[in-house]
Amino acid sequence: MPELPEVETTCRGIAPAVRSRRIDSVIVRQHRLRWPLPKTFAAQLEKQRILAVGRRAKYLVLQLERGSLIVHLGMSGSLRVLPTATAPLKHDHVDIALDSGQCLRFNDPRRFGSMHYTEDDPLQHALLKNLAPEPLGDEFHVEYLAKKTARRSVAIKQLLMNANLVVGVGNIYASEALFRAGVRPTRPARKVSRAELGKLVPAIKTVLNDAIRAGGTTLRDYVNADGTPGYFRQKLFVYERVGEPCRKCKTLIKQLTQGQRSTYYCPTCQQ
Ligand SMILES: [Zn+2]
Repeated sequence: MPELPEVETTCRGIAPAVRSRRIDSVIVRQHRLRWPLPKTFAAQLEKQRILAVGRRAKYLVLQLERGSLIVHLGMSGSLRVLPTATAPLKHDHVDIALDSGQCLRFNDPRRFGSMHYTEDDPLQHALLKNLAPEPLGDEFHVEYLAKKTARRSVAIKQLLMNANLVVGVGNIYASEALFRAGVRPTRPARKVSRAELGKLVPAIKTVLNDAIRAGGTTLRDYVNADGTPGYFRQKLFVYERVGEPCRKCKTLIKQLTQGQRSTYYCPTCQQ
């Protein structure tokens, strides 16, 4: 599943090719995405210029002259910039053809992705308006996390992955950030000290920023925005390293299950 860093990477990857470009035409080959695309979808976008590309949580927001296109990559979606004449492959559901001769092509085998066009403030769209703070934003700080963890007995890792608290901290990033902060993932949130939260907040920001810099982590069906295959895998300390020696202390990494998700940690470095 594309995580926040992959979406940010896509955002940065497509921006130079689409910014200031006019949409010549929109081809919808499959309108049944997570939510069906309305029949008016193509006409709403056509002839508008793309002014900017941004991200909110795992949504890409393309700001057009009269409205905004909100895109979610779902479980398996990708957006690539290709010459418009490139023959479509299976699962290439939508092409947004630009006046540059290139198109923004949406591929999504599992069709959990979505596209919405709105002429209202996109941040007030039903999908976006109630989202929790961005982990890389200024509003995600120690005081905020301390307030959210107080009196909560749920495990700290599960709390970090709760999108009502902070958006876009997936399993990989929660696991890696807890390692860096030296906090065991199973600790009740309220028992994590202020000093530990003070390490955890920057650790979350660091692992996400590192992943963005590396172009997203490894995902089987993720494609870079410029169409290059493959991934850069950032150096992971614990995630999917069960039984391997900790990179810091050589203790073997352990695995357990929390909320149906695998958790990895070093029993020595994380207390
Ligand atoms: Zn260790």
